[in-house]
Amino acid sequence: MARSDKRRGKRHREWNLGLLFENDSDPRIEKEMAEVERKSYGFINKWKPRKDYLRQPKVLMQALDDYEVWKRDCGADGDPGYYFWLRTQQDQNSPDLKARFNKIEELSRKIENDIQFFYLGIARIPLRLRRLFLAYPGLKKYSHFIERIFAESRHLLGEREERILNLKSSTSYSNWVRMTAGFLAREERRVLLEDGRAGVKAFSDIVSLMNSGNRKVRDSAGKAFNDILEKHVDVAEAELNSVLANKKVDDELRHFTRPDFSRHLSDDIDSEVVDCLIDSVSGRFDIPAEYYGLKARLLGVKKLKYHDRNAHFGDIGNKYPYEGSRRLVYRVLKRLDAGFADIFESFVEKGQIDVYPGKGKAGGAFCVHHCLSQPTFVLLNHTDTLHDVLTMAHELGHGINNEFIRKRQNALNFGTPTSTAEVASTFFEDFVLEEILRGCDDEQRLAIMVMKLNDDVSTIFRQAACYRFERELHMTFGEKGYLSKDEIGDLFRKHMAAYMGDFVEQSPGSENWWVYWSHIRYFFYVYSYAGGLLISKSLQNSVKKDPAFVAKVKEFLSAGLSDSPGNIFRKLGIDITDRAFWKRGLDEVESLLRETTALARRLGKI
Ligand SMILES: [Zn+2]
Repeated sequence: MARSDKRRGKRHREWNLGLLFENDSDPRIEKEMAEVERKSYGFINKWKPRKDYLRQPKVLMQALDDYEVWKRDCGADGDPGYYFWLRTQQDQNSPDLKARFNKIEELSRKIENDIQFFYLGIARIPLRLRRLFLAYPGLKKYSHFIERIFAESRHLLGEREERILNLKSSTSYSNWVRMTAGFLAREERRVLLEDGRAGVKAFSDIVSLMNSGNRKVRDSAGKAFNDILEKHVDVAEAELNSVLANKKVDDELRHFTRPDFSRHLSDDIDSEVVDCLIDSVSGRFDIPAEYYGLKARLLGVKKLKYHDRNAHFGDIGNKYPYEGSRRLVYRVLKRLDAGFADIFESFVEKGQIDVYPGKGKAGGAFCVHHCLSQPTFVLLNHTDTLHDVLTMAHELGHGINNEFIRKRQNALNFGTPTSTAEVASTFFEDFVLEEILRGCDDEQRLAIMVMKLNDDVSTIFRQAACYRFERELHMTFGEKGYLSKDEIGDLFRKHMAAYMGDFVEQSPGSENWWVYWSHIRYFFYVYSYAGGLLISKSLQNSVKKDPAFVAKVKEFLSAGLSDSPGNIFRKLGIDITDRAFWKRGLDEVESLLRETTALARRLGKI
């Protein structure tokens, strides 16, 4: 079907950017941009010369009220910035759109630089006055916003030092990381393809070929992959040591007492929550170990090779046209709560979802929001696969989360912290998957359940193992001052073996897989994958036991940045520093494993 045919229906299948502007030459665009500039410099010129808002809580309240209105209405680039960014996602090949967007960004960067004084000023409010500010009733609605600035300010250096660190960050950090990733990305190898022929494939294709259902294809790709890592492991040793040393220096300068603290601070999550999460997950490494045992039997081998872990099993079936998928997702949302379904319906009616792939359109899928006053947009590339339906549910989850926050929060609390950003998305995704499983025959159900377990194990247990690897890596580096590739490889293997158990071989070459794991270069980020999915699963577990619990889920979805995740849950009577909370999530994974094993047995597959 041609794209134009799809537009004939009553409902939009492409973004209706008319919600922002008529078209690219709408005269309102120029006018709006002039307004953004006027409003921004209105704020800057009013508050920059003043210092009283840093001494008197009442004046800070007035300043923050102004700031909130600015953020709500336009921020630094307003509707024109949002509109042209969205246009570049619809058509990535248009130099004209890129140019229009860049022009707007030029001005918005200038505004952002000029408005920074405000944030930096609040960070310099002296310690003795801080309690006074936080206790002031008029500032209550902004208290967490202020608390976070105060918390970060304790680790800020002087203006000149910050400038130096900033100027040197590319040579001391990002160039190194980009170098290793760049070397790997440029590699090619001759490998066996699905059709039985051999062909030269790029690094990223080789990575996907390792998941093939055909063992010969997997082995050929695995060999090529290990060969590439071996070639670059010496460079990666030098790179990682430099990156670790740089991080150690930064942490010392900023007085961070543990290597993962800067991550917790920037993600607005208490260290004790992350510790409890990682301990709870690693206390249940028997779950992935048992899963890999099941998978080995399903694939008919005694042990999986290291690169076999993600091999596809069975046929998951792939016929999910958009209309049917939309109705299915709607049904699941409605059963959970009418409010969820209404948001979805309104997205569809107003044209906030761009459904099908198109020439020049961005790949993948995302859900985007900008200012509180602007509509959310979802981008999909629906090609009727099972993955596409789950992606739809996932991105809608983000969208529903946005709309709940929009209803309840001010513009300074509009957003989600990294630590819980994936809770809503995976929550809805998992309920939709359950609905799909209900409609499948047994063979297909088994294949989908194995796929789901594989994803859950990678997201929860593998990431927790990676976090523990990182922790020991930073500590050992701190003690020794330099780590050889063998030492890094030994540490890596130790932590991977801990979660994989006895049914995955730590095959030769697997000790080098850290070379390619980019997340470890971003430091302790991976807990958020495990944490997000497990919080979501714990909430799912509670909803299944008591559908009325959805009221608490909605409270959580409305909270935005109004408090830290730990406190938000505490107010709902949920303690996420308690292992029982995480156990409820882990129980969900375990029961899926039990069901999958029983089904495999019933079908005579094991
Ligand atoms: Zn997501």
